[in-house]
Amino acid sequence: MKCPRCHGIMVFEKFYGSQEHFFGWRCVHCGEIVDQVILENRSWKK
Ligand SMILES: [Zn+2]
Repeated sequence: MKCPRCHGIMVFEKFYGSQEHFFGWRCVHCGEIVDQVILENRSWKK
């Protein structure tokens, strides 16, 4: 998994929202967060 913004290393983490928690990927370089919903909805651009 590489960051769509800076192509850095992303780590799989647990995040806590206002009402529920979810799992997603966080970039260790720029802090970009990608979760499952974003992955399904986003059209990846190169
Ligand atoms: Zn990044």
